[in-house]
Amino acid sequence: MKISEAIYNEGLDVGYSRIGASILTNLEFEPVINDLRTKYPWAKSMIISVWHYNFYKIPDALNGIVNKETLFQGRYLKGSHENDAAIDLEAFFDSNNVKAVDIMDLDKHIKNSIAEKMNIGLIRKNGYFYTEEGSYCTLHAWLIDEDIEWNYNEAPGPCLAHCGICIKTCPEKALLKDYIKDADKCSTINSTVINVGEIQLKTGCDHCQDICPWNKHRWSDEEEFPTLNYSNN
Ligand code: SF4
Ligand code: SF4
Repeated sequence: MKISEAIYNEGLDVGYSRIGASILTNLEFEPVINDLRTKYPWAKSMIISVWHYNFYKIPDALNGIVNKETLFQGRYLKGSHENDAAIDLEAFFDSNNVKAVDIMDLDKHIKNSIAEKMNIGLIRKNGYFYTEEGSYCTLHAWLIDEDIEWNYNEAPGPCLAHCGICIKTCPEKALLKDYIKDADKCSTINSTVINVGEIQLKTGCDHCQDICPWNKHRWSDEEEFPTLNYSNN
């Protein structure tokens, strides 16, 4: 099996819902690629994998107050499923002599735009990145020293032309029109930090995701998240 196919299969095996790749030359529409090349001259391709956190129970006390992406952030939380998936994929890179560097600190909007270019999902009118499994996801990114380019065309269909329910019902009127968000008004972008037990969380809202038809039945409430307190549920 070619290394390209092996990485793809491993990404799905460790728990990612989607995994995309592209050679850096095809991502030059994002100016940051040049900076990354300077910093990592050995890098040839970028891998982006999609982790869905839509199976966690939401503590009653935090429901509607905290943005779910913040609530279920497990990329560097030892023992979380999200962390395990990333560690397993990195171990696979290592064992196959693929040099890789984690570039999770890459701006979220740039990761979304690159993942869209990789055809593993698309950005909807509310500004969130969606795969066929909905938008309750976060993206992991690595640079690797192999030339890998996939084009599985796994993006879901676009928003229906007549749908604008997220825009009409945003509580802060932050969605101005299709794909245009007023960052100063959005309560998720302009969040404040609250102390919840021993952890700090950012406030925010998920209304424009929760109301979106493409997220219908995408949340399953199966499992408690390791750092959260469910005693009031
Ligand atoms: S996250 Fe909330 S405030 Fe921000 S655009 Fe969506 S609905 Fe509006
Ligand atoms: S609510 Fe409608 S317009 Fe908004 S992101 Fe979802 S499908 Fe698109």
